[in-house]
Amino acid sequence: HQKIEYEPYRKDFYVEVPELAKMSPEEVNVHRLDLEGIAVKGKGCPKPIKSWVQCGTSMKILSALKRHSYEKPTPIQAQAIPAIMSGRDLIGIAKTGSGKTIAFLLPMYRHIMDQRPLEEAEGPIAVIMTPTRELALQITKECKKFSKPLNLRVVCVYGGTGISEQIAELKRGAEIIVCTPGRMIDMLGANSVLDVASSLLLYWLFSDILHRFLVMRIMDNVRPDRQTVMFSATFPRAMEALARRILSKPIEVQVGGRSVVCSDVEQHVLVIEEDQKFLKLLEILGHYQEKGSVIIFVDKQEHADGLLKDLMKASYPCMSLHGGIDQYDRDSVINDFKNGACRLMVATSVAARGLDIKQLILVVNYNCPNHYEDYVHRAGRTGRAGNKGFAYTFITDEQARYAGDIIKALELSGSPVPKELEQLWLSFKNQRQAEGKSIKSSSGFSGKGFKFDETEHALAN
Ligand code: ADP
Repeated sequence: HQKIEYEPYRKDFYVEVPELAKMSPEEVNVHRLDLEGIAVKGKGCPKPIKSWVQCGTSMKILSALKRHSYEKPTPIQAQAIPAIMSGRDLIGIAKTGSGKTIAFLLPMYRHIMDQRPLEEAEGPIAVIMTPTRELALQITKECKKFSKPLNLRVVCVYGGTGISEQIAELKRGAEIIVCTPGRMIDMLGANSVLDVASSLLLYWLFSDILHRFLVMRIMDNVRPDRQTVMFSATFPRAMEALARRILSKPIEVQVGGRSVVCSDVEQHVLVIEEDQKFLKLLEILGHYQEKGSVIIFVDKQEHADGLLKDLMKASYPCMSLHGGIDQYDRDSVINDFKNGACRLMVATSVAARGLDIKQLILVVNYNCPNHYEDYVHRAGRTGRAGNKGFAYTFITDEQARYAGDIIKALELSGSPVPKELEQLWLSFKNQRQAEGKSIKSSSGFSGKGFKFDETEHALAN
């Protein structure tokens, strides 16, 4: 690459519209939650867009979207499009059928249209790599919906069929190549039909790591200041190292992933009076304690100690874990809990962050979590590694303001929402409206309990 002088090119096309610019970080968080719980990692990610016009694409694309009845962006599109449009590398994770293809196609077109027209025998501007032939064909089909009106050429290069036809097509020139890595290597190597050195964009859809070496070989051929984007339905650990090698300062966008309670957790929410809670707890413990370990979450240290005493009195041997206990004792509590010496623990959320206890069968939220993330994090202590788990949450009338987030968490994880909980939320909303007050979701991610500080981190590990 050092020997080649690459033409400079522009990557950042994104201009945020005023409607998005004025959204507060809180509002953005709520909006991401509404979009099936988008989680974003990496610095400087743009806000998710709400409509096609907000992504600054051309009229031709807008009318093609309309023609194909793509009314508005899906969640992965809403977040990935502005990020890619602003020139960033990206990892996009969203389930099959969520619209990942258009999430990279639209920014790709914007990009290609910004380049000077290709001269004869000049290579593709964008390369889309896919693990299978079927996917390559499917993406080509989707791609053509837009490339035709824009007068761009797409060639699909894949193995298992005659190579000559594909070579002929490539020789006629193409701005976009959709390929499987094996056949692509053939084209680059022995046949020298293709030169991707000055390609600007790489889109890689992966499903497994078998293609790793092939992909690396292709990547090595492309100019280093390219924009690279990866999409998949899952992001296996083994991919991380590779992603780090081929992407630069990527933004990671995950839809409906980490921040949703896993379906192995059976969730129950009980609307209950404060003075009924302890009896109900005993009843639940009676049912589950034989089956595995249990964590009971409370909101404050004092409550942890109080509940601990009450449980001991009721002949339940138990321990407590919270920030007021010194490090040495905390370590021994966690050890005893992990090795099963004691199977019942009362804890604050912060202290139990990241705890991974396989035999944990039950989580009880004795005090209702005050935001969405905290609920998901607590419930997520159980149901791990494919084991079934149970989560019970107590919510009192006074805590009605938290009901909205809990309902959202139940819905996003596909759990039924109890009627009483819905009722509680409804009457809370009505009351606020009658008082002329706005209803703010408490799901700001900046609240207590979401961020690690040093001590929490030490606790979690
Ligand atoms: P994935 O790659 O995530 O599996 P696709 O990109 O193949 O999903 O999209 C799945 C289907 O949804 C396709 O038929 C596609 O045409 C359609 N689709 C994509 N985006 C939208 C949208 N914004 N509105 C309506 N349909 C869409």
